[in-house]
Amino acid sequence: MNLVDEQIAVITGAARGIGRAIALRFAANGAHIVVSDVDEAGAQATAAEIEALGRQALAIKTDVSVANEAENLIKATVERFGRIDILVNNAGITRDSLLMRMDEAQWDAVIRVNLKGTFNCIKAVSRPMMKQRQGRIINISSVVGVMGNAGQANYAASKAGVIGLTKSAAKELAARNILVNAVAPGYIETEMTRNLPAEAVETFRTLIPLQRQGMPEDVADVCLFLAGPLSAYVTGQVIHVDGGMVM
Ligand code: NAP
Repeated sequence: MNLVDEQIAVITGAARGIGRAIALRFAANGAHIVVSDVDEAGAQATAAEIEALGRQALAIKTDVSVANEAENLIKATVERFGRIDILVNNAGITRDSLLMRMDEAQWDAVIRVNLKGTFNCIKAVSRPMMKQRQGRIINISSVVGVMGNAGQANYAASKAGVIGLTKSAAKELAARNILVNAVAPGYIETEMTRNLPAEAVETFRTLIPLQRQGMPEDVADVCLFLAGPLSAYVTGQVIHVDGGMVM
């Protein structure tokens, strides 16, 4: 069964990593995908992979932290496909440093992309979804937003903020049948985690009951559940995809 057959999905930060895996998983389950990223060439490469699966794809260069770019992304989607069924707010960055050494630019950059970017896209999509009286919004948070992490105060604050934003949006939009949930990945194998120091990797491993690093596809599978009919009575939740780190 194609869980998101003929659905129109916008996925931010989909040039690579978790966003790309979500885009491909949704496409393999019947969706047409708007691939959005600051990395235009990467977005086009993901779009080509989706078309090779026999689905429609549109690559759009977007910096989600800029409100009018988020608005244009949603506008272009509705112009091309006539509607928008699913938004996945996946674009995210890190600028790690211990608190005492963290400068204002590091703090601002992470809050702007991870938290404000998610707000910008939710705000832009809420009008067309309200008109349709249906929609799914999935926000990618992090285990770090729940547990905290030394050296990632900016990132942890942004991802904890995404959880509060998710629950507030879920309450505001539920009456229009728009479901809003968050996914909190643990330690997933992508560019973002590729260059972690060996001690940090070892610490993570000891914290994971399932004793392996997660793959982007592990996160994509849970997003597929939240995007499709099997989660019709689920909203305002944070689903951890972390091998049991948080329980
Ligand atoms: P990734 O490999 O670094 O991919 C992130 C993508 O987002 C990149 O293509 C990046 O483009 C793009 N991006 C950055 N800033 C953007 C902006 N302002 N607007 C639009 N796109 C932007 O990261 P990932 O590991 O797949 O992470 C995806 C999401 O999962 C993030 O929200 C991350 O915080 C979250 N997450 C990841 C892990 C993990 O272990 N990997 C764990 C928990 C949560 P550029 O490279 O060109 O900047």
